[in-house]
Amino acid sequence: MFETVVMEYNHGTSICVSTEVGCKMGCAFCASTIGGLVRRLSAGEIADQIIFSQKDLGKRIDSIVLMGIGEPLDNFDNVVTFLKNINDKNSLNIGMRHISLSTCGVVPKIYELAELNLPITLSISLHATDDKKRDEIMPINHKYPIEELILACKDYIKTTGRRISFEYAVISGVNDSVSDAAKLCKLLKGMLAHVNVIPVNEVKERGFVKPDRKRIDEFVNYINNQGISATVRRKLGGDINASCGQLRRQSLKKEVIE
Ligand code: SF4
Repeated sequence: MFETVVMEYNHGTSICVSTEVGCKMGCAFCASTIGGLVRRLSAGEIADQIIFSQKDLGKRIDSIVLMGIGEPLDNFDNVVTFLKNINDKNSLNIGMRHISLSTCGVVPKIYELAELNLPITLSISLHATDDKKRDEIMPINHKYPIEELILACKDYIKTTGRRISFEYAVISGVNDSVSDAAKLCKLLKGMLAHVNVIPVNEVKERGFVKPDRKRIDEFVNYINNQGISATVRRKLGGDINASCGQLRRQSLKKEVIE
């Protein structure tokens, strides 16, 4: 079981697709990883999420984010085939510029993706600015620490000429202080970067709490004042648990009870 979420915006309809059933990456704020990786989705199964959603909605999907269940770069070949297939004018004909791919930081695959030079938007789930904190939140950091990740990002920007979006889930008392914002600015200095600040999903199993709006605004304002663009992601779907694997988790629990 995996989840697909459709989001209606004023500027069009967007879809968040899954690339794997479960995930092995172990990010502490994410419900998708709690049961581990079950299997990787084929290129066709990823595309089906768009095809069937379009049928259900009776209209065309305008943009895609690969931010559902699974780490897209852990399923690299299928994801690249999917991107090329849906971009094909004889297929769904969805422009690469309308596609965002989010990774927790699989460094060798970021270099590989750069070589392909696809005009998609790459998002990096950063979430912390020092290895100690990032190790705790994102176990992949043990393998590919921040310094290596930033080097790969710089290479990606240089090779593709494209801006990277850095995702930063703010967690109350963990990574949401102004001094965290200052460290983030230092890390991204001189890079073609945008910071997407996300109030953390409150996953009960993890005990994370999102900061209040005032603290989030202070965090974002500090970054903007340093000349790096930063925005708070407008969250959709949290009220129906449709974010970060929570929908799947809820359905799996329901199955167990039934
Ligand atoms: S955030 Fe992404 S990479 Fe991390 S555990 Fe969740 S699905 Fe996997």
